[in-house]
Amino acid sequence: MSDTRSGSRRLLGRLRQALAEPAEGQERLDRITRLIAEEMHTPVCSIYLFRDQETLELCATQGLNPEAVHKTRMRLGEGLVGRVAASTQPINTGNAPSQPGFRYMAETGEEIYSAFLGVPIQRLGERMGVLVVQSKESTPYDDDAIYALEVVAMVLAEMAELGAFVGEGAAMAAPHQHPVMIRGSIGQEGAAMGHVLLHEPRVVVTNPFADDAEAELHRLHTAVDELRISVDEMLTGADLKDKEQREVLEAYRMFANSKGWLRRMEADINRGLSAEAAVEKEQTAARARLEQVPDPYLRERLHDLDDLSNRLLRLLTGQGTDSGVETPEDPVLVARNIGPGELLAYGRGLRGIVLEEGSVGSHAAVVARALAIPLVINAERITTEALNGDRILVDGDQGLVHLRPEDSVAGAFRDKMAMMTKAQERYASIRRVPATTVYGPTIRLDMNAGLMADLPSLRSSGAEGVGLFRTELQFLVRSKFPTRGELAAAYSRVLDAAGGKRVVFRTLDIGSDKVLPYMKPQDEPNPALGWRAIRVGLDKPGVMRMQLQALIRGAKGRPLTVMFPFVAQFDEFRAARQMLLDEIEREKRLGRPLPKTLEIGAMLETPSLAFAPLQFYELADFISVGGNDLKQFFFAADRENERVRRRYDTLNVAFLTFLEWIVMRCRETKTPLSFCGEDAGRPVEALCFAAMGFRALSMRPASIGPVKHLLRRSNLSEVREIIDDARAHGAQSVRPAVMDWLRQQG
Ligand code: PEP
Ligand code: MG
Repeated sequence: MSDTRSGSRRLLGRLRQALAEPAEGQERLDRITRLIAEEMHTPVCSIYLFRDQETLELCATQGLNPEAVHKTRMRLGEGLVGRVAASTQPINTGNAPSQPGFRYMAETGEEIYSAFLGVPIQRLGERMGVLVVQSKESTPYDDDAIYALEVVAMVLAEMAELGAFVGEGAAMAAPHQHPVMIRGSIGQEGAAMGHVLLHEPRVVVTNPFADDAEAELHRLHTAVDELRISVDEMLTGADLKDKEQREVLEAYRMFANSKGWLRRMEADINRGLSAEAAVEKEQTAARARLEQVPDPYLRERLHDLDDLSNRLLRLLTGQGTDSGVETPEDPVLVARNIGPGELLAYGRGLRGIVLEEGSVGSHAAVVARALAIPLVINAERITTEALNGDRILVDGDQGLVHLRPEDSVAGAFRDKMAMMTKAQERYASIRRVPATTVYGPTIRLDMNAGLMADLPSLRSSGAEGVGLFRTELQFLVRSKFPTRGELAAAYSRVLDAAGGKRVVFRTLDIGSDKVLPYMKPQDEPNPALGWRAIRVGLDKPGVMRMQLQALIRGAKGRPLTVMFPFVAQFDEFRAARQMLLDEIEREKRLGRPLPKTLEIGAMLETPSLAFAPLQFYELADFISVGGNDLKQFFFAADRENERVRRRYDTLNVAFLTFLEWIVMRCRETKTPLSFCGEDAGRPVEALCFAAMGFRALSMRPASIGPVKHLLRRSNLSEVREIIDDARAHGAQSVRPAVMDWLRQQG
């Protein structure tokens, strides 16, 4: 064993020497293949590097035909080399030709070599290439050879990161320099241009080698001890009733105390790596495993291990504690995921946000929407690809991210943003005029809000009021239940800021995707159809009563408008309404000021409510269609499931006909009706809703201008004729016909 160790140390020592000498990238690669072949007593050593994301190229070799260098290429997954790259796992065989997928590359002259060992060159989930040794033996390489080659591959990846192989005859471009386009999903529409601000900056390992193994082992042990203490402290300080938090911390502790983890890092140090390089090698291996694991639970645990490695690296290098990174003037936040509180701490200064994970309904997305910051979610590998300070373009309208874009792409993007600014200027000029359609009715346009920070948009957008104030955001961004006094003060500030304009407070809509960090999570098979919103409020009336009291007190004698979410049947509305009336009575008995006027409405978010008895419509002071939920239940298509959420068009004839039915029932009972789902903010959808009879729409503040602009230029009777005609002709969606008509209108 000690022989092998000293062999590895000698190999690393020579490698370090080769890398320290001044040379062009290609020359360095040539020297490295030579010295590996010598030290490992093997006739062939080759380095294959990625030319682009799909193609590997032979970039240096000792033993194969030198003429093949920069000529032999294979696609990811093709041949044994391609398979190593695709699986990010080593392949070791004594009989290469018998392996599935083996491909002779005649030009390299490799057919006489039967043993093959290939290991991936990768760094923290980023594939860079493959390092291969071959021999004429008919036995596979031993474990020590695999280990030694993996350590060398790790060092190569580290040095590549530092740009050691760039140069004349360009063996490889330094990673993190080429443009990358990532296709994610839309979290919040809008476009942004700026520079990357990593939420958790990556630690840079500047020296992967170490001479003094004892000293490195000591550093590692000290850091691991510190890490264990900090995890124990986190566990004692944590709320142990929170099952999820406890599970994560327990997993942390398990990993931090894992003997295997420590032993592998010690072995790496004994072979000549520095302590931080040893940690990073383990982290890279964990990331490679992460890519192979489909089970979301296991993926989470591997992410925990990743987080733990980052903590350890920060302890070892001192980086990241005070990150020393300057916040760019135009920051675009890049993170794997982020909590709503952390996001709010960054505030409105962010130009855009890109998340590797996240979902449309996640709290971060909700906050980003409230702050009107363009957001792209599910941007795979963004935290691996992006470096602090990289230039980045966020196209929230299409869910695209351009990292380090070419000038032409940046130019086109700049043009697009300029056009959007121009349009905004045009919208500003109609800010104070009503959304009166040609010859026709005026549509009331309100805005959706959820945070105090949204209120200034009331003036800048030209909204007539707040048609939906999502009160759960105030709960989501806190770490514990707010008190009645805190809530009353917050609601009062909202009404102050609204300056007499109507604000529709929607009571707490939690459950489903909106889980309060301090409430016991419910393990439900189908949370969107589960115990949420008014169902929680009625079953556990304590919180709802407290909120209703806070609303009455916050009103301080001013008009109050309250709306209950997710009502599925008449009784639920009646019971909730009665609770509010009881609280009014109570306040009256206590001699406190009562709201000047009181409106109590319901959100229509389940198809069942559309068919409720007419008495429901008569009792409700107003109804607002929550189109996000209504649409998901109408089409049975989960609004958070990327596979299906865009499958059914809002302008589908069946859905429009259903909306028309709701309009008719409201007309019959003279119940004011509005639409407050996201679709109200899309101009074409808004136009069609107006044509179907909606006279009030509530939307993101940024949508008010575009929607008003289109409404003011449209004749609703004509639109209605187009819709009726498309319906009569059996169209599935009226969109094509309406779009044609709009084009004809110019
Ligand atoms: C809706 O469902 O349309 C709605 C406005 O409520 P939320 O998006 O908060 O569920
Ligand atoms: Mg809803």
